[in-house]
Amino acid sequence: MNIILFGPPGAGKGTQAKHLVKNFNGFQISTGELLRDEINKDTEIGKKIINDMNEGRFVNDEIINSIMKNIVFDKKKKNRLIFDGYPRSLNQAKNLSSLLDASDQKIDYILFLNVNKETILKRIEKRKLLEKRSDDNAITIIKRFDTYMKTTKPVLDYYSKNTNFHEIDGGLKIEEITNKIDKILRV
Ligand code: AMP
Repeated sequence: MNIILFGPPGAGKGTQAKHLVKNFNGFQISTGELLRDEINKDTEIGKKIINDMNEGRFVNDEIINSIMKNIVFDKKKKNRLIFDGYPRSLNQAKNLSSLLDASDQKIDYILFLNVNKETILKRIEKRKLLEKRSDDNAITIIKRFDTYMKTTKPVLDYYSKNTNFHEIDGGLKIEEITNKIDKILRV
């Protein structure tokens, strides 16, 4: 089963992805984590993306699409993909669709964690203390939220017509969201 977790930064996608990995034997594909890894390892990609990441801008689609190609075609991960933070633009969504077609896979569920800006600001302030991410500060958070609204919202409109699209109140407690997701996946 392949799943897309969708929602603004701070919606809880990463937390729910980890739960899905544990309970459904999936692989969490977090583009944010993959990109932070490139920066920490100081790779060529890392050098190219560090400024965009630190300032809350999207990394260009070409880099994201090339990273994704290797993952979608990885046999070990076939039909066990839990996408967290990808796709974030229509271009990425279309690229994913071609990669899945070419590897004989499809998206089984699209789970949209819907949270408002105020809740996100509060949550990310907390996460900043726990995870010490360099892009978790108020100015960057607002920028990331605005980028999400501008670039990612069209992806949401694109997916929301699908019958496997489910909207979940991302303002609920973690366990409540987990329960809702489990119910959807068990039907
Ligand atoms: P995240 O950990 O998902 O909040 O992502 C952190 C940052 O990584 C974002 O603000 C972007 O700069 C970059 N990023 C993560 N995923 C993507 C993506 N799918 N497309 C473009 N940039 C991304």
